[in-house]
Amino acid sequence: MTEKAYIFQRLKKVSRGNILIDEPLSGHTSFKIGGPADIYIQPVDQEDVVQVIEFCNREGIPRLVIGNGTNMLVSDDGWRGVVIDISKAFSHLADKGNVITAGAGVTLKKLIRYCRERGLAGLEALAGIPGQVGGGLVLNAGAFGTEIMEHVISVRLLNGEGRMELWKRNEIKAGYRKTNLPVSSILIEAQFALLEGNPKAMEMFEDGILKKRRAKQPLSLPSAGSVFKRPPNDFAGRLIEEAGLKGFRIGDAMVSRKHANFIVNCHLASARDVMRVIEEVRETVKSRFGVTLEPEIHLIGFGT
Ligand SMILES: Cc1cc2nc3c(=O)[nH]c(=O)nc-3n(C[C@H](O)[C@H](O)[C@H](O)COP(=O)(O)OP(=O)(O)OC[C@H]3O[C@@H](n4cnc5c(N)ncnc54)[C@H](O)[C@@H]3O)c2cc1C
Repeated sequence: MTEKAYIFQRLKKVSRGNILIDEPLSGHTSFKIGGPADIYIQPVDQEDVVQVIEFCNREGIPRLVIGNGTNMLVSDDGWRGVVIDISKAFSHLADKGNVITAGAGVTLKKLIRYCRERGLAGLEALAGIPGQVGGGLVLNAGAFGTEIMEHVISVRLLNGEGRMELWKRNEIKAGYRKTNLPVSSILIEAQFALLEGNPKAMEMFEDGILKKRRAKQPLSLPSAGSVFKRPPNDFAGRLIEEAGLKGFRIGDAMVSRKHANFIVNCHLASARDVMRVIEEVRETVKSRFGVTLEPEIHLIGFGT
């Protein structure tokens, strides 16, 4: 029996979730890029996720959490270990007054609609961000002047040992596309405190945001959104455009002509193509402007 088949058999005994062997991660990322995960598992609930964490710890198997896969570049070699897809396990939504509890696997799109239907405002500027609540919290996702953490009052997570922790907002340090939530943890849910809003006005506002996104972003091609973080007092897109890199292409990976901070997969780009474009962009921007661009997207399975 191969090692993967062995892990599969053992995992089947502890988890009730759907388990796949050699699952191509290209089917789970917005870039449509990424080699296979040895094991891909969709636990069914929190208890199930705990079982999987404990199993990986016992067996010394590396694990990766995946949300909607919209902020990651997965290597062509994929992931040696277990990928835990939390979409099913944490898909709950509940409201009490102006407080919404949202599972980490709920998409931001669904959360924003849920809030709007209840006349609860605050998150609408995040309309069009294609990730889930969990991925959004990890990154402190933001757009058009709003960051998700602004409205969070607490986060529940499973720590590296699989034990639940409650983090109150005053314990969470959140900055531009970062938080101090432990990297080894799996986020379960967040509570948001929102303001009274008018659903019709909110819908119109969201439509305006989506229109701006369509006008500025290359949404018809696979990508992972903005590739680089904003450098101090500037914009990565401006620097990349100024360096003449719009349309720069290696294989099927190209700096978007519409938005220079997006790299798009024109057809069958490999992760290697994308990495080479990233390197070229970083080197050129560094030599032209002396600015070091830091990736915003998470690089998975590159051995760094
Ligand atoms: C077209 C496009 C536009 C975008 N626009 C924006 C934007 O305006 N603003 C913005 O901030 N982002 C934007 N993004 C990036 C992305 O959508 C967000 O960062 C999103 O919040 C990521 O969520 P996800 O579920 O896809 O995370 P994933 O890509 O699945 O994961 C990202 C990271 O978070 C970790 N993670 C995911 N879920 C959990 C969890 N439950 N517990 C612990 N760790 C977890 C993963 O391991 C990974 O390291 C855009 C992306 C695209 C493709």
